[in-house]
Amino acid sequence: MPSTGGKRAGKVIALTNARVFTATEPNRVIENGVVVIRDSIIADVGTRGSVEIPEDAEVIDLRGLFVMPGLIDAHAHISGCKTGDFVKEPLLTPYEVLVARAVKDLEALVNAGYTTFVDAAGLIGLRLKYAVEEGSLIGPRIVAAGPPISQTFGHGDIHYVPLEYADIRTTRKLFSPFTGVICDGVDECRKAARYVLREGADFIKIMASGGVLSQRDRPEFRQFTVEEIRAIVDEARACNTFVHAHTYSSEGIRNSILGGVKVIAHVSFIDEEGIRLAKERDVVLVPTTVTYVKILDEGPRAGYPEWGLRKAEEVFKIHCENIRKAYRYGVKIAAGSDYIGGPFRHGENALEIKTLVERIGMSPGEALIAATRVAAEVAGLQHKTGTLERGKYADIIAVKEDPLSNIEVITKPDNIVLVMKEGLILKNLLESL
Ligand SMILES: [Zn+2]
Repeated sequence: MPSTGGKRAGKVIALTNARVFTATEPNRVIENGVVVIRDSIIADVGTRGSVEIPEDAEVIDLRGLFVMPGLIDAHAHISGCKTGDFVKEPLLTPYEVLVARAVKDLEALVNAGYTTFVDAAGLIGLRLKYAVEEGSLIGPRIVAAGPPISQTFGHGDIHYVPLEYADIRTTRKLFSPFTGVICDGVDECRKAARYVLREGADFIKIMASGGVLSQRDRPEFRQFTVEEIRAIVDEARACNTFVHAHTYSSEGIRNSILGGVKVIAHVSFIDEEGIRLAKERDVVLVPTTVTYVKILDEGPRAGYPEWGLRKAEEVFKIHCENIRKAYRYGVKIAAGSDYIGGPFRHGENALEIKTLVERIGMSPGEALIAATRVAAEVAGLQHKTGTLERGKYADIIAVKEDPLSNIEVITKPDNIVLVMKEGLILKNLLESL
């Protein structure tokens, strides 16, 4: 697994005098809590008195601050884009400039309390992941999909350029950091999956329905057949990984679940059958609700195409209703912002947590779990991070106020006063308190 670099051998830290939200249950807070960290791992957590603080520990007194697992964005993209035009902008901007901006985005994510980032398609995240792992860059741990897999005339196909430009294997000029692999039929799908894994993907991302920001298809269009999806899932499983599907349409959702997909993003048109299947097969939904709010609020100014804005408005109404139903039925839901850059500024990703409370009806504790424990499952890291429990990575943040009584608190990076990733402190404002 990734390490953040740096020498920590034998280092012991004890965070004391903390209100500890372990993210194991929505309402559980350990008052006067202690977290003991040995190297990169949580060695113990509990109330003062029940936890032994080793003599050689560096003690950090948190003076009653709220402590919780580092945030995880379950679906977003590192693209380096500043506008909403993800085809034209990358074409007209030197690649190095996009990368430089992406580096700043990673810093902004850490500043906002993010210690893990699921990059749900894109080349820049896939590459920068190595720079973060070796400690050359400060950033959250990146779990990357790399190039997304799409059918011809799918969401990952850029409909207004020649087909060979839209496929990463044949394009000459990188039109977009999101350039993917286009394939049709079971055999091509297997080959595409293997190609993406060859590029270093941690998991595979497929486009199983149309999208809001693709020109000629619609979100409710089904893309890929169950057989095609099953072939991709089979290749992922063969390498001990899983598939994450972009899907709005009810048919796309059903096909994805029947095909063995583990994570479904966007999810807007999920119907009762989809909800039942998701619950039965333990599929995690990442509704990325905040993107609608942002597209509609800021899209016109940011240069989003008019046809994209129109589609977003139509879908949003239905979206909230359907996700609320899935939530009430007990389907697992993770917080993913789908932030990409541009008007979707990295660093503001936690707005999705607030959106889950305000639009979907989660309690603040449930929404924090959606952004930690459940999001860890989406990253395939449920045994490594997402809760404050013995044996997990010391991915820990301290928050100035209590997000359980006011969820707004978590959305402001200034409130995040301590960020620790695998035992390394990446942000520390304790002295200024
Ligand atoms: Zn996305």
